[in-house]
Amino acid sequence: MYTQIENNIFKIDVELKGNPLKVLNSYYIKGTDGGRNLLIDTGFRNDVCRTSLLGGLTELGASMEKTDIFLTHLHADHSGLATDIAAPGTRIYMSAVDINYLRGLMAMDGSDSEERVQLQNGFSSRELKEVGEMFGHEFRCEFCDGFLPVHEGDVFRYGGYELRAVLTPGHTPGHMCLYEEKSGILFLGDHVLFDITPNITFWPGFTDPLGQYVINLLKVRDYPVRLPLPAHRGIIGDMPTRIDEIIEHHGARLDELLKALREHPGGATTYELAENLSWNIRSEHPGWGSYPIAQRWFAVGETAAHLEYLLLRDQVRAERHRDVVCYYPRWRPECMKRQ
Ligand SMILES: [Zn+2]
Repeated sequence: MYTQIENNIFKIDVELKGNPLKVLNSYYIKGTDGGRNLLIDTGFRNDVCRTSLLGGLTELGASMEKTDIFLTHLHADHSGLATDIAAPGTRIYMSAVDINYLRGLMAMDGSDSEERVQLQNGFSSRELKEVGEMFGHEFRCEFCDGFLPVHEGDVFRYGGYELRAVLTPGHTPGHMCLYEEKSGILFLGDHVLFDITPNITFWPGFTDPLGQYVINLLKVRDYPVRLPLPAHRGIIGDMPTRIDEIIEHHGARLDELLKALREHPGGATTYELAENLSWNIRSEHPGWGSYPIAQRWFAVGETAAHLEYLLLRDQVRAERHRDVVCYYPRWRPECMKRQ
């Protein structure tokens, strides 16, 4: 299913079955005068996404032989299908930063460091095993060898548009938007979403994701944007207002986290602190224990990014206790130290 958004720009709804994100907005820019087309983001590497994406492309009469792909970031709901649907001549673009990050992940052996960090965050080995079984190959993007690296300011010309790559790290280490100054169109990827808040998590080797994210929200906030096009859910919204709301959301989250830390003067792991924060997670019963494991994984990741923000700004202290890291409010008296 597709919708025309603008002259030569179409949105294809790619179904993300069973995923709280529900749908990926894949954008297709139709080439003019026999020129090549551009597809922005693709969906997971599974049959449901493949069927809805290819269905939309067929309805649009698109041939992959004449289509290139731009991936806004490395997440598998954006990049998963790229190598599957590409024709031999298809150019697949992704930010150089995210390509390098993927290469680093692929080079790691056995227990990758994201899992090691989640153990330090307080996840049990049993929960980690559950996560590993659930995140099958469709959640990973491991085929970046042929991807072409994109840098800040690179320009792409498709369908009469001149799109400039804008590096916006935060949601991933090398997230990118595409901006067309003349028409005021900004392809947002997951940088700004109108109906949900983009997930900000920790990344081994990428320092201060939340601080970076806020800087890069402010980077695009005052662009003269007439048509902001996010990669998930609704596409109608005022971008500066939404950016202010997202920054406010993270500010409130930091306050909530500082309060939870003060309520645990003897120290708490990231996992324990996440249990004490409020989450907008749908589950059969209320309470942390009944949340699906995937949602707990993302919640602990988000808490870790906020703790890192506070740690780097000297508002909390961290200490390692055997296999886990505990966090303390700065004023914690020595006598209350965890043994
Ligand atoms: Zn994403």
